[in-house]
Order: sequence, then structure tokens, then C-alpha cells
Amino acid sequence: MRKANIGVVGLGVMGHNLALNFERHGYWVAVYNRTAEKTRNMIASAGPERRLIGTFSLEELCANLERPRRILLMVQAGQAVDEMITSLRPFLQSGDILIDGGNSYFQDTERRHETLKGAGILYVGMGISGGEEGALWGPSLMPGGPLQAWESLAPMLRDIAAKAEDGEPCVDYIGPRGAGHYVKMVHNGIEYADMQLIAETYDLLKRALGLSAPQLAEIFAEWNQGELQSYLIQITAEVLRKIDEETGQPLVDLIMDEAQQKGTGKWTSQNALDIGAAVPTISAAVDMRILSALKQERVQASQVLRGPTQTFRGDPEHLLHLTRKALYASKIIAYAQGMGLLRQASQEYGYNLKLDRLAAIWRAGCIIRARLLSDITLAYQREPGLVNLLLAPVFREALASHHNALREVLKIGLDLGIPMMGMSTALAYYDAYRSARLPANLIQAQRDYFGAHTYRRLDREGIFHTQWT
Ligand code: NAP
Repeated sequence: MRKANIGVVGLGVMGHNLALNFERHGYWVAVYNRTAEKTRNMIASAGPERRLIGTFSLEELCANLERPRRILLMVQAGQAVDEMITSLRPFLQSGDILIDGGNSYFQDTERRHETLKGAGILYVGMGISGGEEGALWGPSLMPGGPLQAWESLAPMLRDIAAKAEDGEPCVDYIGPRGAGHYVKMVHNGIEYADMQLIAETYDLLKRALGLSAPQLAEIFAEWNQGELQSYLIQITAEVLRKIDEETGQPLVDLIMDEAQQKGTGKWTSQNALDIGAAVPTISAAVDMRILSALKQERVQASQVLRGPTQTFRGDPEHLLHLTRKALYASKIIAYAQGMGLLRQASQEYGYNLKLDRLAAIWRAGCIIRARLLSDITLAYQREPGLVNLLLAPVFREALASHHNALREVLKIGLDLGIPMMGMSTALAYYDAYRSARLPANLIQAQRDYFGAHTYRRLDREGIFHTQWT
């Protein structure tokens, strides 16, 4: 009996396409899905000449895999992963590799890794980005776990991963235990921030200049030719261009303004607070999704809460020029926050993350792929110990020439009463980080006043407390 090189459990959107991606690269793939019909449909639609083996129990799946077994779980994150591990466990042997490719919380991955370690099962938490298309044609892959597992998986993962412009596969060993899922979580946090910044730009141009969605589509398409070039700007242009066939109106104008979330952005903010890293633009993106979900309340509040009534009277061309620069500046700052969080987490959890490698594997395949990531890769290659991305010469210079545009755009947004929480937190982060002196002296004094929390002084060593009254 021919044994498969890899098994895929869970033939939803991602698992189905990842299985076909492995198969296209010459691997034999055994597939299993809880609902057997999906397995039957997949095998039937793929045709008999494909290197796919349909299996209908986990025992059958494991019996059809070469040893050491490699099994990719692509089921819903959370309880389903634990259930699958428990069900698979009796059929696994020491040396087998179990990969969780879902968006699992990194602490869950740490726990599962610990549980399986005793039995010699190599547990890999692998972040996957690229959505449905990426899964089929080349995702960005972020595998963490035992190095031994990476060595066994590397050739296959390199084959199925997206390839960057220089041909390099968008996959690398991320680090031990939950490192892969941690990095994927922060990737998604950055994605939240990037989407929010683009949405604010769209909102400002729409409200200030009264541009239609197709007009905005042209602007974003043009911006996608320059420093802002990225997947998210590209799809923004495509989304804005789409006309609803039934009504003849731009589809985006008909979509309910309530953003949903599955949790990875929130986890990023929560974890950043836990380990003491500042990611205000990512948190602002989460907050804005929360506010967006209060549709009914907002509609009512819009009737009673007052704001500015003025309209934009400036030069539209100039505003477009400023907004493009403001978007780029705020995007750099948001990425700097995400990379700063990764740097801190690497120390906190002993992940030994290589920031240049992370930026390199995000250059293609994933949702945040962008021209900017090549510069980020180079910045960390040149200076692996870089404490903050903003200090890299390339970004220092970019911000020197762009930060005024960000200020100008925010002033216009303030004057018009347009909420720009993402961009304003980005600028505030930048200004805070470049302030040699912040008003934390006053906060320390207040803390000492009401709670005798003590303070340190600039002019002498030691810990002080004052009787303030
Ligand atoms: P999906 O299309 O909703 O498919 C979910 C799969 O999980 C189905 O095969 C389902 O089996 C299985 N499943 C759910 N609960 C189960 C349980 N208790 N026991 C066994 N199987 C169970 O999901 P997806 O979009 O492929 O996502 C899978 C994972 O990848 C998630 O963690 C997701 O966050 C992550 N991810 C998704 C994307 C994306 O763009 N969609 C991108 C990156 C990562 P049945 O058919 O029997 O219901």
C-alpha cells in the first residue's frame, strides 16, 4: 500500500487548499474530515489521477502515513484542536509530527507542546497567512516547535510556500514551542492596524473631498505603484471598484459598517499589555472595530452629539498628496510597534526570534505583504540588535520627510470631526518615542502624593518620598 507523505485533518477552506498545494508539488496526501461528505467530495472532484488518499477515520489516516508521520491539523482553533489531539493520540508514535496550522492562541500551543513532549510527539504550532488563495498557491508559513520537526518538514514547506521576488520561500523556522503562533498573532495585529489606517484614509478622502468609490479606487491603484505598494492597498482598490450588479451602486457603499473580529488582534493588544510593550495603533484598530460594532448606538448618538460643521476648503490635489504620505508614515510606525512587540516577546518567552527572517517571510504570500517589508528585512539584517525600527536610517529618513504630512492630515481630520484613531495614535507613538522628556515626572509625583509610591530624581541617586502637604 502506498503511504502518504503528509496527512491533512480538516478540509475546510484552508485544509482543502493546503492539501491540494502539497499534492501539486508531488507529495502524496492523505486527507480526513470530521464530516465524511467533504472528504468524498474532495476526492471525487480532484479525480483519480491526483495523489490524494481519502480516509474516513483517524486510525485509517494514521495507517496511511509514512513514518515518522506528519499530520497537519486545519480545524477550528480552540476546543476542536484539543479534541483532535485526544482522538489522534492513540494512533501516534514517538517521533511523529503533529502540526496545528490554525490560528491557535500561542499559550494553548505551549500547553499542547508540553503535554505531547513526554510521548516523544513533536508538536508544531504553525501560523499560516494568505487566506484561501494563499493556501492553494503559496502561503506565508510560520512554523514553531521542535527544531527536529522543522528539519523533517522544511523541504515540503519550502515547496508549498509563497516565493518572494528573489525566489526565497516564505517560510522559516520561527522558534521553540508557541513561537510560530505568537508570530502569526502579531502578524494579524499588524494587519488590523494596516487595515484601520487604510480605512481612515478612505474615510477622510470620501468625507473631505466627496470622492466616489470608483474615484477612490483609481487613487489607491495609483498609490499601489509607489512606496505604499502592498496586497492590502491593491485589494482596497479592487474592492472600491466593484459595482453591485443588482443596484448599480459601488458594493462597498452598501456594506454594513460593522467590522467583525475573530480574536487575533485583541490577543495581540492583550499580550502587549501583559508584557509591557506599547502597540497603540494595533489597539486603536481593535477599539475601532469594537466601536464600529455599536452601529445602533452610533446612529442614535449621531442625532444628539455635536461636532464641527465646517467643510474642507483646501486644495484637493494637495490633500491627496499629504494623505498618501500620512498613510505611509503611519504604516511604518504601526509596523515598528508590531516588530517592537516581537522583540520584547522574544526575550520574555525565550523565542529567539530573528526579526529580519520574520520580515523576509512576510514579503509574499501573507496578507500584510508589502514593499515596505523588504526595507524592514534589510534594516534588521544590517542591524540585528536594532531596538526600534523607527531608528533604522531608512525609516528615520522616511519619517523625517513624511511626519509633517501626517500632522497636516490629522489637523484636517480634527477640524472636520473625522475619527482617525489609528493615525493619531501612530503620530503620538512617534512623538512620545522621540521625546527625551515625557510628563511621567508629574505622574510619579502624583503617585507619590496619594500612595507614597516613591520616585527617583534626575539630579541624584536614590529612592525618594515627599510629604506633599
Ligand atoms: P473552515 O472552513 O470553517 O473549516 C473548519 C474545519 O474544522 C472543517 O473541516 C470542520 O469540519 C473542522 N472542525 C470544526 N470543529 C471541529 C471539531 N470539533 N472536530 C473536528 N473537526 C472540526 O475553517 P478554515 O477557514 O479552513 O480555518 C481553519 C483554521 O485555519 C482556523 O483556525 C482559522 O482561524 C485558520 N486560518 C484561516 C484562514 C482563512 O483565511 N480562512 C487563514 C489562516 C488561518 P466539518 O467539515 O466536519 O465541520
